[in-house]
Amino acid sequence: MTVLTVPTEPQDSRPTGVEPDAAALPPRYTDQWIGGAWVASDADGRLVVTDPATERALATVPAGTARDADLAARAAAAAFPRWAATPLRERTALLRRVVEAMEVRADRFAAIITAEVGAPAGMARQTHVGLSLGMAAHCVETAASHTFEERVGHSLVVREAAGVAACITPWNTPLLLTVQKILPALAAGCTVVHKPSEITPLHARLLAEAVAEADLPPGVFNMVVGTGAAVGTALVTHPLVDVVSLTGSTRAGREVSALGADGVKRVHLELGGKNASLVLDDADLAASVAATVDQMLFNTGQTCLQWSRLLVPRDRQDEAVRLADEAMSGYVTGDPRDPATDLGPLVSAAAHARVTGHIRRGIDEGAGRLVRGGPDRPAGLDTGYYVQPTIFADVDPLSTIGQEEIFGPVLSVIPYDDEDQAVRIVNGTRYGLHGAVWSGDGARAERVARRFRSGLVDVNGGQFNPAAPFGGFKQSGIGRECGAAGLEAFLETKSMQLPQGAGGQVVGPRLRATAAARPADTERNDG
Ligand code: NAD
Repeated sequence: MTVLTVPTEPQDSRPTGVEPDAAALPPRYTDQWIGGAWVASDADGRLVVTDPATERALATVPAGTARDADLAARAAAAAFPRWAATPLRERTALLRRVVEAMEVRADRFAAIITAEVGAPAGMARQTHVGLSLGMAAHCVETAASHTFEERVGHSLVVREAAGVAACITPWNTPLLLTVQKILPALAAGCTVVHKPSEITPLHARLLAEAVAEADLPPGVFNMVVGTGAAVGTALVTHPLVDVVSLTGSTRAGREVSALGADGVKRVHLELGGKNASLVLDDADLAASVAATVDQMLFNTGQTCLQWSRLLVPRDRQDEAVRLADEAMSGYVTGDPRDPATDLGPLVSAAAHARVTGHIRRGIDEGAGRLVRGGPDRPAGLDTGYYVQPTIFADVDPLSTIGQEEIFGPVLSVIPYDDEDQAVRIVNGTRYGLHGAVWSGDGARAERVARRFRSGLVDVNGGQFNPAAPFGGFKQSGIGRECGAAGLEAFLETKSMQLPQGAGGQVVGPRLRATAAARPADTERNDG
């Protein structure tokens, strides 16, 4: 992503959401989705969206400004009272139309995600888009059946929309992480300003088009493209924004947390991870190593849930490394539009520099033994941000590559001597997002999973569950998404104490206490 400073011109006549066509001139977008219309940005600068496989520009979009963010926050605040008061049944009916409008665009979403993220075409369609559509529908139905009110003794406890929500999302699985926020927020009755990653804004434009087709009232959903420094901070500090929900790096989480503190914003954070796959000594080594390698390589290693550390019993490390090496040799790196490709490029030149820098550092620091891959480009892939899938063995768990989120296809194999030491290593980073445990004994696997200090643990290959709370311990985040917990993140709780007397007369405990404390003679005199 590059910021250019060229003057903004009026929007061209291309319809919004057109997927990039590498053969044509890159589309030049100049607007933001605000208050139910495409509104010209006042940005001077432009962001270039790059195809990571070709390093060519796919499109340019406005480098959104604080004014764009302000217009969007005002539109959302104006729409809030009516949307929050719209009956749940009507809200969810409109949101089902959003899901339908997304489904109609499934192939276009997939093409854009391949183009701007570099995700292989099959994976983009089945996983990025398929999971997103399932998640979107799930979020709407979760809200439709949610209990928003309950009686607690003589109190009526109601959960109501928290206000204007700023939803700030990353580039790695961009559609999924966006729907995971905006649909619960909208279903809760919040109005939304979405700020997608500046690296991948094109899918977000198509999503705004889908929302427009569903005819949500103007201002209920707004989308502003721009950098974190400009649009992100303007939203987080905006007085009309009540809730900030960020998915991104721990660095961004720290900044957003600090920025939001001044206005006492409700800040929800889904951040980075350095997740471990722990293979116990009674596990099926071949199956657990193969599953770890497959999960680790998903999206070219660019997922927060990635099992980037593989912990194996010391006396089985050589066998585990051989199995991981063999498994990795079956994955094809190349053009994400080629159906034979398993691993596309990394998303950007910066990501490429970060990942190869970590690999170099791992070698230079002697953090482990390089078994496969390395910092050089894969043979024959001189254009595009490609990197070799890499394995280090005998990794020092306290080294940089053993501690830091690399966010690329780099596996650190870490040997351990006993179960207690393994659990200490699993929990020995500042993160606590995800993990896996493998054992021939299901009860033992579950027992060890309970010792993980992380928000998610897959036990013997248990699958992702969109109804279960999703989020991290420690510096992996605050709060939970998905299922009822994801909806609750956008609700405020109000307790209404109702009168208890039969005639509705208020007889509060304080009044009774006063009467009881009254001296007997005073009571007589009252008569
Ligand atoms: P990033 O932190 O660079 O950016 C994420 C979003 O935050 C972007 O929209 C960015 O513009 C915005 N942003 C950055 N700084 C900001 C600030 N100071 N104020 C407001 N907004 C700001 O992250 P990224 O590179 O886009 O994504 C990768 C990171 O996201 C990884 O660390 C990954 O682990 C994490 N992630 C976490 C989850 C999760 O659910 N826990 C899911 C996906 C990705």
